Amino acid sequence: MGLATFKGGIHPYEGKELSENQPIEVLVPKGEMVYPLSQHIGAPATALVKKGDQVLVGQRIGEPGGFVSAPVISAVSGTVKAVEKRRVVNGTMADCIVIENDGSYTKVEGLGEDRDATKLSKKEIIDIVKDAGIVGLGGAGFPTHVKLSPKEPEKIEYVIVNGAECEPYLTSDYRVMMEEPEKVVAGLKVMLQLFDNAKGVIAIENNKPEAIKKMKELVKDEPRIEVCELLTKYPQGGERTLIYAVTGRKVNSSMLPADAGCIVDNVDTVCAIYMAVCKTTPLMRRIVTVTGDAIANPKNFSVLLGTNYQEVIEAAGGFKQDPEKVISGGPMMGMAMFTLDVPVAKTSSAITCLTKDQVAEMEPTACIRCGRCVSVCPENLVPQKMMKAAMKHDLEQFKKLNGMECVECGCCSWICPARKQLTQAFKEMRVAVRNSARK
Ligand code: SF4
Ligand code: SF4
Repeated sequence: MGLATFKGGIHPYEGKELSENQPIEVLVPKGEMVYPLSQHIGAPATALVKKGDQVLVGQRIGEPGGFVSAPVISAVSGTVKAVEKRRVVNGTMADCIVIENDGSYTKVEGLGEDRDATKLSKKEIIDIVKDAGIVGLGGAGFPTHVKLSPKEPEKIEYVIVNGAECEPYLTSDYRVMMEEPEKVVAGLKVMLQLFDNAKGVIAIENNKPEAIKKMKELVKDEPRIEVCELLTKYPQGGERTLIYAVTGRKVNSSMLPADAGCIVDNVDTVCAIYMAVCKTTPLMRRIVTVTGDAIANPKNFSVLLGTNYQEVIEAAGGFKQDPEKVISGGPMMGMAMFTLDVPVAKTSSAITCLTKDQVAEMEPTACIRCGRCVSVCPENLVPQKMMKAAMKHDLEQFKKLNGMECVECGCCSWICPARKQLTQAFKEMRVAVRNSARK
């Protein structure tokens, strides 16, 4: 049987060789720590502290604003300098808690203690994940306790650990699988405690043979867990394409993965579940790849949330040449940054710094109807026609063409010989359709 995969997709330059063999380094922050109250999908958290308050490592400083929300936890001890608007990764000003790090890392009582997960009830596990502030660390930021609470848990058949890491340049999940594979397996076992009828699948692209080998060895005596080898192809790690590759089931925009009997979480998120449940440690750090040809020493870091991006770049030796583009995340799905004076948040998976040679900025020309965009679209859409609707801002036509099924993967833009900014146009149209529906 061939390797698991999906229809469509592309093979961009991977760029992973820059950082894939760099072991994770722990980065010690130097400056003030900044905690945005909204680092997740859903209602923002509300500040529980005010200027002058003393805080400890592991202390809750932001209270979730509803069920679909997440608390914010301090990763340092020190004094609250301000609760004010600061610039965040997407370039906007947002409510943040600013903490002067005293450098002593004094912890709240009980932090880091071992806990036997097998003695916990399902509700206790979900409550721990919720209190730990865990959200999808792959970039989506969806609160994990919500994902782990489907309406009919008995209908979940697959708990999938997303180890595809298909986004070019990114190597943080790979390093976690190489260095801490036991945590991934232990986190998955905790998740399987919640779903009696599910099997666990660790899905990894076949450009990571060492990680596949390690994981297979670790789970060989685990009857409920298997490793699924995926064909290397972008966007293999997208939630829908991954579910299709592993189970053959299709998910569309009106469904949740749970409707197809699946729960999907990325490698770092599964480790965060392990840390919260088994080590009494809430989400306070994440793995960040700092990479791209503009960076002196591409590396993978374990970074405390709230650390300034500039400090992370300095820890990787700074820029060896002026970057043409700095992206939070990878080049396909990441977000272009306009300033580095922003904090690392729960969804900051990477900082990709590209040179002029790597950023092909060419003026778009007329569509030559080559059909390549159609052949690569993993959602079976017709980007060429959707673009026509987008240019006329024709929301109805865009919907008729199933434009709302677009997962904004970037494959069509990448392949287009006319350099059409297809994905960007679809992103804007999807927002416009949603806004008009709200009205
Ligand atoms: S890939 Fe570009 S040029 Fe080719 S059909 Fe699609 S939009 Fe037109
Ligand atoms: S960005 Fe949207 S339209 Fe383009 S290939 Fe991806 S899913 Fe298809």
